Amino acid sequence: MTEHSGKPAGAELNPRDFDLFEFARSEREAAGVVRVSQLPRMLNEVPAEAPDRDTAFTWQAAGFTEQELQDNGTEGPQPYLRLAVHGGAWLACQRCLAPYEQAFNADATFRIVQTEEEADEFPLDDDEVEVIVGSRHFDLVDLIEEELLLALPLVPKHEVCPEIHESLASGPDGAQGVDSVDDVPEQEIEPEERVNPFAALESLKKDGPGSKH
Ligand SMILES: [Zn+2]
Repeated sequence: MTEHSGKPAGAELNPRDFDLFEFARSEREAAGVVRVSQLPRMLNEVPAEAPDRDTAFTWQAAGFTEQELQDNGTEGPQPYLRLAVHGGAWLACQRCLAPYEQAFNADATFRIVQTEEEADEFPLDDDEVEVIVGSRHFDLVDLIEEELLLALPLVPKHEVCPEIHESLASGPDGAQGVDSVDDVPEQEIEPEERVNPFAALESLKKDGPGSKH
C-alpha cells in the first residue's frame, strides 16, 4: 500500500467502516485485498472440493464528486464512488460438476445518495451508474461482495470440460485436446460470461437466426 508523496498520508482506511461521503468529497483513493473467506455469500458458491476455497480479490476504490442539480434546486457536489474488483474464485462447473477457476473483473460507478427513498427515485434505465445509499460507517467489503455476486456467471461452467473432452474426443482438435482448465486462458472465459443480453439480441437481429456462431 503506497501513499503518493504529494498528498497527506491521512489515516489508514478501514474498508469495513469509513465515512463514504467524506471519502467522495475529498476524492480519496484506497486499495486492498479481500479473501473469499471474508465473503460468506461468495464462499457459499465455492464447492467444498475446490483446490483453494480462499482465493483473493484485489480492489481499488476512488471517490469523486460532480456538480449536479440537488433536491433543493441548487447546483452542488454530488458524491460518487468508483469501485473495481479483480480476482478469481473456484466455482462448480454446471456441466461436469468439477470445480474450475472463474475470473472476476468488476468495475462500477455508484451515485451515492443519502436515503433509501432517494435511491428509489433514481431512474433505473441508467446502465452506467448504480445507486447506493451512503453512510458515515460504510462497509465497502459488503459492496465488493455484492459486485462479485452480480458478476457470477448465470451458468458457471468450464470453457471446455476436461472429462467430456477426453471421453468424447470428437471435436476437430480432439486429438491434442485440452485436458486441463489451465490450458484455457482466463481472458477467453471472462468476456463471454459477461455478454450483454441486449447486445446478443442486436446481433441476432442483424445476422438472422440462421447465421452460425
Ligand atoms: Zn466442466
